[in-house]
Amino acid sequence: MELHDELIAIVGRRNLLTDGDVIASACIDATGRFGGTASAVVRPATTAEVSAVVEACARAGVSVVPQGGNTGLVGGGVPRGGEIVLSTGRLDTLGIDEAQGRIMAGAGVTLAALHEACHGTGWRFPLDFGARGRATVGGMIATNAGGVHVMRHGTMRRRVLGLEVVLADGTVLGRLLGLAKDSTGYDLSGLLCGSEGTLGVVTGALLELAPVAEETVVAWVTVESMQAGLDLSMALAAIAQVEAIEFVGPECTDAGCAALVVEAAGESERIAGIGDLVEGWPGVTAVEVATGRGERERLWSRRESLPARIRAAGVPVKLDIAVPPVALGEFLAAVGEAVARVAPDSTTWRFGHAGDGNVHVNVTGIDPHGPTAEAVEEAVLRLAVACGGTIAAEHGIGVAKARWLHLSRSPEELSAMRAIKAALDPAGLLNPGVLGL
Ligand SMILES: Cc1cc2nc3c(=O)[nH]c(=O)nc-3n(C[C@H](O)[C@H](O)[C@H](O)COP(=O)(O)OP(=O)(O)OC[C@H]3O[C@@H](n4cnc5c(N)ncnc54)[C@H](O)[C@@H]3O)c2cc1C
Repeated sequence: MELHDELIAIVGRRNLLTDGDVIASACIDATGRFGGTASAVVRPATTAEVSAVVEACARAGVSVVPQGGNTGLVGGGVPRGGEIVLSTGRLDTLGIDEAQGRIMAGAGVTLAALHEACHGTGWRFPLDFGARGRATVGGMIATNAGGVHVMRHGTMRRRVLGLEVVLADGTVLGRLLGLAKDSTGYDLSGLLCGSEGTLGVVTGALLELAPVAEETVVAWVTVESMQAGLDLSMALAAIAQVEAIEFVGPECTDAGCAALVVEAAGESERIAGIGDLVEGWPGVTAVEVATGRGERERLWSRRESLPARIRAAGVPVKLDIAVPPVALGEFLAAVGEAVARVAPDSTTWRFGHAGDGNVHVNVTGIDPHGPTAEAVEEAVLRLAVACGGTIAAEHGIGVAKARWLHLSRSPEELSAMRAIKAALDPAGLLNPGVLGL
């Protein structure tokens, strides 16, 4: 209780939440598979308050779980047993630099708020995905989030020009110069991208924007087979104006047909040429095109409604893997059988980002907490690695995949990661268990 009093002195009574009903939603993750109890949820509003909170927890020897929008899918942003959850929702300042195409955002700013802030400026924040209404800048940096435009605009790491971070003892590090050239030693901001709350709490970030394109077009392309779609995807990936290529397995659509969702942005003439290529591609059976913002959002929402559709069939085991795009056909053809071998009565759903070789494999019809779920996870992750890929593409490792990290990282890499963790958080108080650290 002494720690709670100290935290109240820092953030005020109304920003230290302890009531079980009030904090229940912060204690379970978006998949419904992971979660535990928290001692409290604390809601600091400034970097100085974050620093004081983390320092007080360190003195008391109490672990801290940083939490943004709690949309993570690997159990990394929820408590496991009695930690303090540090919620970043009140770190919501935003300032756009229209001259240089940058935005300075607090860690708790949502992806949707970033998009909105750019509206009408001639700039855009080019990352996007379905959880935009809740996913935060801090969470996206911590997971090195991706989404639909990675093939052209990179993951979150590429958008970060500088960070402000609170370390495990409360020390504040800030490097927000955003210089094009800066050859002064270790890239600490880069190190924090993908660190999943284990090395520091991100409090703010300077992010790079992209110019708004002359025209943006989205198409829902129905194909007669997944392979026809993947062949088209390889051809489209070579065209600079193509910014997103998503694929949807036939099991995910009402009509039972595989499809691609393609977005292209650039000069109107070039976009028209891409349209001709798609329409004439062998195996394409229908093309729906959207040009206006509302129409485009409607087509995207068809793709974005897939997680809810799958969830309606039961709590899924969700696996996010990536393979080289050339190996996508091999992986997609084999994954159903690999799952069926260990879970014969299950259903395997396949969709994802074809342009990056990133597949979201969802499996329903099994107990998501039982041994069959583990067997399914192991089978899918091993198949991804056998196809030359990684066990985590954009959702991170969290606690969900910690035991399989050795499939994608060598003993030497794991030992270097442990050494970095020990140097920055010697008492292991920041997000213990995540990344297996
Ligand atoms: C419907 C849906 C669709 C999704 N689609 C995509 C997609 O296409 N691409 C994609 O990449 N992800 C996707 N996700 C996953 C999720 O939205 C991302 O992982 C997102 O980056 C998490 O942000 P968050 O603010 O919700 O973080 P949280 O879930 O709160 O936390 C995630 C991790 O980041 C850490 N963390 C959070 N904030 C901070 C901080 N300030 N400092 C340090 N560590 C912090 C947490 O401790 C945890 O380890 C999707 C999720 C849903 C529910």
